[in-house]
Amino acid sequence: MSFPGRIAPSLRWAAFGLAGALLYPLPALAQTADLIVMNAKIATLDAASTTAQALAVRDGKIMAVGTAAAVRPLAGAATRTVDAGGRTVIPGLIDSHMHAVRAALTYATEVNWIGADSIGEAMARLRAAAAARPGAWLIVAGGWTDQQFAEKRRPTVAELVAAAPDNPVYIQLFYSALLMTPKAMTALGISPEALPPRISLERNAAGAPTGWLAGDIVGISALFDRLPKATFEENVTGTKKFFGELNRLAVTGVGDPGGFSIAPSQYAAVFQVWRERALTVRLAYSLFAQNVGAEFDEFRIVSQMLPMGFGDDMLRFNGLGERITAGMYNNNDPNDAAKEKFFEIVRWAARQKLTVTVHWNENKSVHHLLELYERLNRETPITGLRWSIAHLNDASPETLARMKALGIGWTMQDALYFQGDQELATRGEAAHRMPPIMTALRAGVPVGAGTDAHRVASYNPFVALQWMLDGKTVSGKPTRGPDETTSREQALRLYTVGSAWFSFDEGKRGTLEPGKLADFAILDQDYFTVPVERVGRTVSLLTVVGGKAVYAAPPFDK
Ligand SMILES: [Zn+2]
Repeated sequence: MSFPGRIAPSLRWAAFGLAGALLYPLPALAQTADLIVMNAKIATLDAASTTAQALAVRDGKIMAVGTAAAVRPLAGAATRTVDAGGRTVIPGLIDSHMHAVRAALTYATEVNWIGADSIGEAMARLRAAAAARPGAWLIVAGGWTDQQFAEKRRPTVAELVAAAPDNPVYIQLFYSALLMTPKAMTALGISPEALPPRISLERNAAGAPTGWLAGDIVGISALFDRLPKATFEENVTGTKKFFGELNRLAVTGVGDPGGFSIAPSQYAAVFQVWRERALTVRLAYSLFAQNVGAEFDEFRIVSQMLPMGFGDDMLRFNGLGERITAGMYNNNDPNDAAKEKFFEIVRWAARQKLTVTVHWNENKSVHHLLELYERLNRETPITGLRWSIAHLNDASPETLARMKALGIGWTMQDALYFQGDQELATRGEAAHRMPPIMTALRAGVPVGAGTDAHRVASYNPFVALQWMLDGKTVSGKPTRGPDETTSREQALRLYTVGSAWFSFDEGKRGTLEPGKLADFAILDQDYFTVPVERVGRTVSLLTVVGGKAVYAAPPFDK
């Protein structure tokens, strides 16, 4: 469907001005676009789901979007015109829950296995890293699963040693298992007889050691913190590279919930890139409690000079979370003291008008959280503060109704792309309703899409979109049923304007409409019509953030 061009409010005003006051010269009318994209299939994601052919950008914002005839007159001598060649253009993707700041710190120095489809390929990446950095620590910090490998198994220590005999090697699988080469064990002073807290020898069903170590998120994060750190310069390089990699995949925005193994001082790298005006992904970040037992003091001290929303459209402070207190994190059975401590903090946050996002995994225990929020809402309303719950893949209709009543949104990730086989094995039928995307939308709960990358998932948004559409895990097993599966457009809405809601940005970005920030991507294939099993391979050919090209591949790279 096509429609006549719509013009940004400021230009409309100028047009009225022309009719009403011919005395004044009207430079606004002479305004021409900085950038025009023609001959495109533009999914504007406006309320009418309009597909447009052309758009114009000025001063970092969408100036007009519509037919070629409506947009062409906005071209001037200095306008860059891009012929999209009939390709699909989408609003820039926004991952509402990605540990991007942390992933970026080590992107230049870590080895990653994201997308490796065999152990051979994974070992080849280790070999290449060993050749590039003789003797250096080689760290794979997550973002992979044995199910992605053709061999359907994890690598062995012998394979690691064969690939990188002269480097200490550390491999992490989610937050549940680790494999280290003898060189790495020695360097850390670890042996099977002397393991760190909350780390144990993993044993198979017969009780024999598998060679791997087992642990939980706290134990593994503490051990990870003992690995050598990248330098500040490497952090800055990694940040630029990682955000460039996200741009390659059409990502232009991220909601960042902090995380384990990243200290407040390590935000210096992303702040430096922001000061250089070199950020290419818009970042809304929240504070993850780092000081167990002193969480309230930490939040009060750090945020007293960080009012809610402080920053700009590239980098913005977005409240607290995803860990508020250690006692209410991954705890299905918090005691009264843990709940009161949490309540004290969120009550304070509500009075400060701070947004709060909370990590909660299991529906069976989420009533602990919701009861506290309902109690709080009776004394200090939280319904307009855009609080949210992350994960909660098995949210029940009752939970979603309570969230809706509290104005709480849900950031939904593709955790089951990696872990769905296991959920299917343990939960059976119930796994077909996980996560309950359509039920949440019908309940009126704001939903944002994302990945939770990169320890537990790949950061690739198109892999997540494909999984949203076909419900198949990395091993190809179908899990989620059609009842909880979105249309392609709905999935895209959740990954754009849906995610923008969580940082109060849906009026500024997430759709391509006049006056909105010019964040968009020209894709290499048509997301809307390509066979679903190929959606995950989509990449951007031209990614624009605030009207500026931040990533370009042929034919748009000249
Ligand atoms: Zn989380």
